[in-house]
Amino acid sequence: MTDGIKPWGAAEKEAWFQAQKIQRSYQTDVVDRLTALPAENFSLEQYGALSHDPQRYPLYVVKSKPWNDDNPTILITGGVHGYEDSGITGALRFLEEEAAQYADKVNFVVYPCISPLGYEINHRWNRKAEDPNRHFFAGGTAEESRQLMTSVESLKLHFRAAVDLHETNYRDIGITAERRARDGQEFEAGDDYIPDGFYLVVPSTADVALGHEVIEAVRKVTPIAIEPEILGYKSDKGVIVIDDVNTLLQDFARKHADVGMTTEIYPDKATKKEAEDAQIATIKTVVAFALKP
Ligand SMILES: [Zn+2]
Repeated sequence: MTDGIKPWGAAEKEAWFQAQKIQRSYQTDVVDRLTALPAENFSLEQYGALSHDPQRYPLYVVKSKPWNDDNPTILITGGVHGYEDSGITGALRFLEEEAAQYADKVNFVVYPCISPLGYEINHRWNRKAEDPNRHFFAGGTAEESRQLMTSVESLKLHFRAAVDLHETNYRDIGITAERRARDGQEFEAGDDYIPDGFYLVVPSTADVALGHEVIEAVRKVTPIAIEPEILGYKSDKGVIVIDDVNTLLQDFARKHADVGMTTEIYPDKATKKEAEDAQIATIKTVVAFALKP
């Protein structure tokens, strides 16, 4: 913290929220698509709701049906950051178009939109100006993160792989500036830097090999970031290992999975469909990995 700059208190956080506008409908864009999924292939369960408006923001998980305990299970999460659209719509399209073909081989557990308020206000933060993807630890206060962790732990499953679907885009420059203000910090070098292509974050060096397979699959869909360093981490052909944060969803999920990853689509140079295709290419690479003997 720097002298003279104070972090936001409750009043500033409330003022931030009151300045946000509803820009789209979670019900129409997400819930209606979930309820339209064929009941013979998927079970749709509500695992919680956002406390400030539970009617408007029910939280859903989709599971494969029929479920086979002998098959590998993959965890897919989207919309931890509600403004990173292709994480949500890519997960939905995967369920609608791809998942059924693996019905007798793989079980899926899919949380397609963990932060529905963030989706509607098109922002990274929740009602309390928290970033849910910094709250996946025992003392985390973001309710989106707590409810997701409680739900996943209640499944008592071990996942072959866990994939968290994100984007990095130009909006992040403005949102990073908001975060600095919220936390009473000054602008830092690199705050306005956006990697110029897709990259993959993994929680462990053990996950880099599968990460490279993902990179090769996504390369057919959208360009890969070629910088030698991304966000201060050494890039290994588009894969960076972030194992020093420990508050990310990938850190929590990795405790329940053999391998984990976070996609970072760069959507500003891709069409909406290409961004979704890159998310789906990632998931299909992970499915192929899970099906290897
Ligand atoms: Zn994100």
